[in-house]
Amino acid sequence: MMQDVHEIYAVRYAHHDRKAHENYILGDPHDTNEPLAYFVWVIKGAATTYVLDTGFDQAMAEKRGRRIVRPVAEGLRAIGVKPDTVTDVVISHLHYDHCGNYDTFPNARFHLQDIEMAYATGRCMCHAHLRLPFEEEDVVAMVRKVFAGRVTFHDGVSQVAPGITVHKIGGHSKGLQCIVVKTKRGPVVLASDTTHLYSHIENGKVFPITYNVGEVLDGYETMKKLAGSLSRIVPGHDPLVLERYPAARSGLEGWVGRLDLEPKA
Ligand SMILES: [Zn+2]
Ligand SMILES: [Zn+2]
Repeated sequence: MMQDVHEIYAVRYAHHDRKAHENYILGDPHDTNEPLAYFVWVIKGAATTYVLDTGFDQAMAEKRGRRIVRPVAEGLRAIGVKPDTVTDVVISHLHYDHCGNYDTFPNARFHLQDIEMAYATGRCMCHAHLRLPFEEEDVVAMVRKVFAGRVTFHDGVSQVAPGITVHKIGGHSKGLQCIVVKTKRGPVVLASDTTHLYSHIENGKVFPITYNVGEVLDGYETMKKLAGSLSRIVPGHDPLVLERYPAARSGLEGWVGRLDLEPKA
């Protein structure tokens, strides 16, 4: 494997049933169930392993009415990743479903956008509406990591390793970032919550939890340019991801998918 070419794995850890209209500003005419899947992502290179986001644990699942399907650490171990050996974790944003489990990676450095930390600790958190997707303890845990010298801040576009760049998109959360990873099939955009479902980016729709609608929509165009093809943009919460991509190996169907391989037709 070339130094800057990576394998990517989507590790599903939780599930939430909900009505389709709950997933869109202006709703949806279909009265169907449109569940969300919850993932963390593993980016494996020749020498290093990066993790994107850390998910939430059983206690948070109960608090928020979500269902853990497999704990994050178990999913990582299923593909040979020992969480305590992970050296770098990129946090897309500080919503509760992306930055919990903070003891799972005791030796990692965390990569975060400047604006996300300012947003999550500043005046916008005076508003209950904007606080909703954040958890005080998650944010405090990240502040503690800053003081422990374990956070690297990024401002806009930044290379975190050869073949891995982060890009501030904003919109859904003020400092939300996506990752672009060099793979055998070209640049793959791990969108995280810049597009929750395929239907958001494909139809120009917007998820209800949003700081800035204009940035969400501009973000779709930015990601299309970064990926060069919609087929290389991976949404952050779509159960279809594990149907479109092959399982990482036999036995991991519906749990861990392999994103650096071409999606199934
Ligand atoms: Zn979010
Ligand atoms: Zn999310």
